[in-house]
Parts: sequence; C-alpha cells; structure tokens
Amino acid sequence: MHFQPPLNQSIKRALRWSNIRKHLVDPPKQFVSVASFPAINEPYRSLMKYWLPGILLLIVLTGLIPAEEMNIPVKGATKADWNHKTFWYGPWGSSGVHKGIDIFGLRDQPVVAATAGLVVSVRNLSKGGKVVYVLGPKWRIHYYAHLNSQMVFVGQWLSPGEVIGSLGDSGNAAGKPPHLHYSIMSLLPMPWRITFETQGWKKMFYLSPHKKLINLKK
Ligand SMILES: [Zn+2]
Repeated sequence: MHFQPPLNQSIKRALRWSNIRKHLVDPPKQFVSVASFPAINEPYRSLMKYWLPGILLLIVLTGLIPAEEMNIPVKGATKADWNHKTFWYGPWGSSGVHKGIDIFGLRDQPVVAATAGLVVSVRNLSKGGKVVYVLGPKWRIHYYAHLNSQMVFVGQWLSPGEVIGSLGDSGNAAGKPPHLHYSIMSLLPMPWRITFETQGWKKMFYLSPHKKLINLKK
C-alpha cells in the first residue's frame, strides 16, 4: 500500500521561512546595493573597525590642547550681556536648574567658538533648538544652543573666535529675546565640585561659564 504522509502545515511554514531566510542572507542580485561592492565596502569596513579607538584618540589628543584665554562666545558681547547669577539658578523649566548662561544680543549676531576645539555634533533639539557641541581643551564639551543658523560641520577644527553660527531663539527659546545658551561640560567627573544645591551632584560635570569668562585677562 502506497503511503504518503501529508505535508503538514508547520513543515510548509518552515519551508516558506527557510526560503525567506535564504533571500535575507543571500539577496537576489538586483537588490545588491553599491555599498556592498567590495571596492567601496572594504575601506569603509576598515574605517568602521577603527572608529571607536579613533574617537577615543581624538578625545585624548583634544584634551591635551593647552587651555588658552577664552572668548565671549557672542561677537561684540560684553559681560553686561548676561546675568551673572543664572548659572545653576532654579527652578528653571524642565531642566530644574540652569546649567549654563544666556548671553543676549541681536538676532544673527555671530556666535563664535569660546575655545579651540573639534565640532563633535551639530543637531536640532526640542529644548536647545539648533545646537553645536565642540570638544575643547581639558576634555570639555562646549555647548552652544538656540542658534538661528549653524555654520559648522562635524569633524571641523575650530580656532578660538571662529564663527560657528548666528544668535537666535530656536528650540524652547522661541519667542524670547534672542540669546546664546552656553554650557561647559566636563567629560572627566570632578566630584570635589559636588554641592548640596538642587541637582548638586551634577556639578561634577558642569563648569560655570560665567567664572570662566570673567577670568579673562583683559
Ligand atoms: Zn539658558
């Protein structure tokens, strides 16, 4: 008696799945993108292999730049253009405390690099609006927010005083007088700076831009 076992549903499903998998692992020729062409892919792959050590090396090297005199990061601004008591002022919106200073000026007044450094991020955030992050001396990140325009790209090297954008009211500063929100964050924690203020423990990562800027030797 001839007996043929019925091909049951689960075997059919498994066969279908293996067919799908075969396509995923070994896509049909017409789906092979330019990126998988060996000549293009190879240098890209070797680059990716070194990106993490590369970034770490950049952080180390940038940190070794001697800290120079700092510029007020708004061209033409003086110390009368920011409130000297707003660093760590609270309560301050959704952030709790104000982790920087606001330097006021005219819309589109040039925003310049406070120190030398490497542009590590250029983004558009809900709170900060158009922002630029610069890795400066001593492993510190300089954060420039609420810009009207960003004029730098990631990986760009900046000299102190070089234009990075223009003053604006982007992000949650919309409708307020144009100002630059400027923060200095340390990649190396400084636990001796911790205080009992609101979010005082975070002070190990934030420096007072006001103190840094008024120490200008002028
Ligand atoms: Zn601010």
